[in-house]
Amino acid sequence: TYLQLALATRLRKTFCYLPQSSHALYQPGCRVEVSFGRQKRIGIIAAVSTHTTVAANKLKTVGHCLDDEPLWAAELWEMLNWSAQYYHYPLGDVLHAALPSLLRQGKPADYPSEQIWQLTAQGQQLDINSLKRAPKQQAVINILRQHPNGITHTALNTACPQHHDALKRLTTKELIVSHQHVVQEPFAPNQQIQTGPRLNAEQTAATEQICQHLDRFQAFLLEGITGSGKTEVYLQCISQCLKQGKQALVLVPEIGLTPQMVQRFQQRLAGRVAILHSGLTDNERLLTWLAARDGKVDVVLGTRSAIFTPLAKPGLIIIDEEHDASFKQQEGFRYSARDLAIWRAKRNQVPVVLGSATPSIESLYNVQLKRFVALPLSQRAGNATPPSLHLLDMRSQPIAEGLSDRLLQLMQQHLQQDKQVLLFLNRRGYAPTLLCHDCGWVAKCQRCDSHMTLHQAINRLRCHHCGAERRVDDHCGACQSENLLAVGAGTERIEHALQQRFTDVEIIRIDRDTTRRKGSLQTLLQRIHQGQRQILIGTQMLAKGHHFPNVTMVGIIDADQGLHSPEFRAPERMAQLILQVAGRAGRAEQPGEVYIQTHYPDHPLLLTLIRSGYAPFAQQVLSERAETELPPYQAMALFRAEGVKRDAPLQYLSQVRGILQAQNRDQLYLSQPLTAPMEKRAGRFRAQLILFAKHKSSLQQLLSHSIGAIEALKANQVRWSLDVDPIDTY
Ligand code: ADP
Ligand code: ZN
Ligand code: ZN
Repeated sequence: TYLQLALATRLRKTFCYLPQSSHALYQPGCRVEVSFGRQKRIGIIAAVSTHTTVAANKLKTVGHCLDDEPLWAAELWEMLNWSAQYYHYPLGDVLHAALPSLLRQGKPADYPSEQIWQLTAQGQQLDINSLKRAPKQQAVINILRQHPNGITHTALNTACPQHHDALKRLTTKELIVSHQHVVQEPFAPNQQIQTGPRLNAEQTAATEQICQHLDRFQAFLLEGITGSGKTEVYLQCISQCLKQGKQALVLVPEIGLTPQMVQRFQQRLAGRVAILHSGLTDNERLLTWLAARDGKVDVVLGTRSAIFTPLAKPGLIIIDEEHDASFKQQEGFRYSARDLAIWRAKRNQVPVVLGSATPSIESLYNVQLKRFVALPLSQRAGNATPPSLHLLDMRSQPIAEGLSDRLLQLMQQHLQQDKQVLLFLNRRGYAPTLLCHDCGWVAKCQRCDSHMTLHQAINRLRCHHCGAERRVDDHCGACQSENLLAVGAGTERIEHALQQRFTDVEIIRIDRDTTRRKGSLQTLLQRIHQGQRQILIGTQMLAKGHHFPNVTMVGIIDADQGLHSPEFRAPERMAQLILQVAGRAGRAEQPGEVYIQTHYPDHPLLLTLIRSGYAPFAQQVLSERAETELPPYQAMALFRAEGVKRDAPLQYLSQVRGILQAQNRDQLYLSQPLTAPMEKRAGRFRAQLILFAKHKSSLQQLLSHSIGAIEALKANQVRWSLDVDPIDTY
């Protein structure tokens, strides 16, 4: 027999090795040590086969086998193999991406254990004076006498450093012994469970429908405006799932894993809750992975990559804010955690709940096709009323620093009543452009096709695309004039303008610049929660997940960005963001008002959104997509290429296109190689090639037939990638 090994090499193939004759059982999903070229690597057995195409004298024998049992149960193993195929990404890299780093490095798939030291009976009876000439040994014995139940190696080391020889001597004399103690049951169930509010009629109906399907597959779209009580529905369904002795997996967007969210899950669920967050140590990550696999936790709550958590008894999968872009990995293994969640739920015959106030166009389409069941929550839970939306026509209005007079008046009214006003602008820094008033020169990034953003407080220019930074130019790069203007407004400039206008109001800015230091976001949020009569200004960071009961007015400073983007998903994103920000207002008993500044108050999409809400807006977007044959009406894939020479990526992609065209039996649409909307970024020129297909299967077929030849192309200093179901087209 031969072992086909998956190695993390970026190559779309497995590698054939010979088994060791002394080792009887090799199973797919186990790790083996191998030498690969001159390196030692960890390979994962992808398959055991009876024939090979490799010449016998070229075959090497594998080293040590690290696992007696496959690392993955069948369901997850199948999902990982399927996703390597579907996303056309190397299996070895997919499998490695799905493992905690300690397992990737070849550490045992066992619970971390600690060495515990104890006295033997002999050691207990020993006359301590007999060790007078060995003070280190004496010290160790004394410490162990204070710990009759044993002490960990680490603790002993702290109490008595450099005792290595002493331990050895005492062990030889049989005065002390040690054993490995496995850290068991790391996750304890919560003892004091809080009961939730009584569900309203819609929440009850949604919960019942989901719970009726706990033993089979069904995808649900829980559509509820912010504050309509979606999380309450999740919590009730999870409780039911736990009562049946099964586990629940909950995925939230990167920005949504807030301490409040975590606390709510821990306080309300009568089970062991494990959180997968970025602050975990490698050991903690492994521990959680093992505990979930062995059924020692009941609920796993995490971001995108938590979809790869093994589960002993999967019972329910939940994706909160399912429309959020962070569920799609945008580099390397470009998977969609939402789509994999649906695959996994189907494979395990369990329900999957996608929740959102502003569902993705794809999910709404799936409801239309009756693949998903829609569960509407149309009211705000409790007594809260939804905010009202208004457009502020900016055309020929006096504007100072991006703020219209009307907006300022409205703010004044709310502040006078000691309320909070939240302003949203998805652009940080002082001004996005530094312009020469005499000749029109603009300060540009040298490595990107973009303007440098002025950060006035630190007197720097920064590129928000590549991170490049320099001192603010004091004269024009073309005509040497010193007459330079900061054009346009970012959050820093708005804050500055407001400080001069509202001298007696506290102004809090939340963006990446004000929250760089660890803990600073928490401090600012605390000030908001304790305060009244404040102006909050911020970017996306402020828009998502938080709950600000005292905010009664929201101002969207610039809604027009989303209307003119080349990206076909931009209007959808704009609407989602507007509603998400709007959802911050009036969450308590106070109704909220939302004002949206725009130069296009007659824009049909904007009008539909304001007058009729998200659902009719989404229908309009869907019918536009149908007309233009864009996703979800067609399947899509995108080849990207980049290189330091301008033409190289385009030339490379025309070779790729040639290969695809030769295989293109179903006459799928292949674009010409195009330069990316922002061609140069971080010193590299970028190009792309777009594929559309009526059916996913014909797209998959074309890619499968071509990818080998594409991989074999000489890339000539071009980096390339393939994105199946891309969410961004640049
Ligand atoms: P969402 O997840 O849709 O934003 P939440 O579940 O967080 O909504 O609910 C918003 C607020 O309303 C929370 O403070 C929650 O405790 C409360 N809430 C939810 N459901 C009810 C209900 N049926 N009765 C009273 N309050 C509720
Ligand atoms: Zn740049
Ligand atoms: Zn100039």
